[in-house]
Amino acid sequence: MIIDGKAIAARIRAEVAAQVREIEKRAGVRPGLALIRVGNDPASEIYVRGKAKACQETGMAGFEHILPEETTQPALLELVRKLNGDQTVHGVLVQLPLPRQIDAGAVLDALSPEKDVDGFGPINAGALFTGRKGLRPCTPSGILRLLDEAETPLQGARALVVGRSNIVGKPVAMLLLERHATVTLAHSRTAALDQEVGRADVLVAAVGKAEMIKGAWIKLGATVIDVGMNRNAAGKLCGDVEFPVASQRARAITPVPGGVGPMTIAYLLSNTIQAAKAQLDLS
Ligand code: NDP
Repeated sequence: MIIDGKAIAARIRAEVAAQVREIEKRAGVRPGLALIRVGNDPASEIYVRGKAKACQETGMAGFEHILPEETTQPALLELVRKLNGDQTVHGVLVQLPLPRQIDAGAVLDALSPEKDVDGFGPINAGALFTGRKGLRPCTPSGILRLLDEAETPLQGARALVVGRSNIVGKPVAMLLLERHATVTLAHSRTAALDQEVGRADVLVAAVGKAEMIKGAWIKLGATVIDVGMNRNAAGKLCGDVEFPVASQRARAITPVPGGVGPMTIAYLLSNTIQAAKAQLDLS
């Protein structure tokens, strides 16, 4: 089975659009998402443009703040604090990475946890770690949804997450643990990665290296979620997993593009709805 992230994400966006109308009807307020981009990183430009477009399509209010590369940390913190207090804005996303003069940690610390729709701030990250309610990071939420849509048994399953970043690897491991998988987190110092992969019923690859996980390593019948967004030698977009061989061995697998990518944006919109409802006291 090829897991069609594009189609699943389209369904979520349609649900979000319905929720936008419902919130407008009940509270007389349009849910609003502020997107902040600092500098001209080409990938960030594409991501923020995609997020703004998706936001517009659901009928949500979108506020784009494009700041120059030389923006200072105090100036960015001031904008974040202003948006924290802006009642027309229910979610704030600061596109990472930030230019090197800005400490991303300080920016995430300044962001109101109620508006932290990326779920990267310390309060939401702590809530995930301790099993409390909060805004969950978008890509990991999207990954769990893809696993569910592919009817993947998680309880007691051996799940391997390759990559331990704060934005993908660590939070997805916590979500899998919450669902009672037996979770292993692999990284650049992991020994015998091929053997770890060979034992995994569920594999989540979030490394950022073109096709580094060989198809022959995949356990027969495994479910594979490929988060990687890379270019191969021919300049073609590809994942972290060698798809042609892996797709022969896996029970279900996501393509790149069209797998995890669209889910990230869908969950950003969905988190903004969750944030707006909480702020407007609409349960
Ligand atoms: P990071 O660069 O922050 O983390 C990469 C991780 O991979 C690190 O933990 C690193 O280990 C590990 N790693 C590196 N080399 C190896 C190796 N040879 N064997 C095993 N592990 C290794 O990346 P992100 O988590 O931010 O992103 C990962 C990928 O996912 C990227 O391709 C990114 O573009 C993509 N992505 C896609 C999204 C989407 O919506 N589709 C959203 C977010 C990310 P160590 O910690 O030891 O250095």
